[in-house]
Amino acid sequence: MLSITIYLDYNLNMNEQIECNKCGWCCQRSACPLGIYLGASIHGECKFLVKEEEYQYLCGLITRETSEIKKIAAEELIMAQKGCSHKFGPHPVSLLVELLNRGLKIDSIGWKMIKQETRKELLNFSQNKIDPESILIALGQFDRYCEQLENKNSQSRTI
Ligand code: SF4
Ligand code: SF4
Repeated sequence: MLSITIYLDYNLNMNEQIECNKCGWCCQRSACPLGIYLGASIHGECKFLVKEEEYQYLCGLITRETSEIKKIAAEELIMAQKGCSHKFGPHPVSLLVELLNRGLKIDSIGWKMIKQETRKELLNFSQNKIDPESILIALGQFDRYCEQLENKNSQSRTI
């Protein structure tokens, strides 16, 4: 999994279940059974998904629920806080943001390695015929995000 390759670098336990970091990738691809049961379409982004900021999403079924008991029931049904349920792990950009917050530097060797390995894995995934469109979109987003950060970094060094 993509997430394991990235996290390995930071010496996290390989057997750990990857935490959900609320990147929203899974719910953007298709709704979960609870969402579908409550009227979301099987295809495309779930209508209950609520954007907080880029790569940070919440389930609207939980946020709009006022009854504590129903909220807990819904959390159980969507398996909140049970780890990432996406077959490819969290979105690559959201992982990168997490690593930057943990101190990853853009001009470090680690940066180059993570970029290279992530691209390689995404390209492999895109060839295995499981949701190639989603993977290629994520790859494009990953490339653009890296490029933006690198440009910003080189500008700040020349000032
Ligand atoms: S967790 Fe919430 S937002 Fe995500 S697919 Fe299920 S119902 Fe939709
Ligand atoms: S793709 Fe994984 S990390 Fe992202 S919101 Fe879905 S379950 Fe959480």
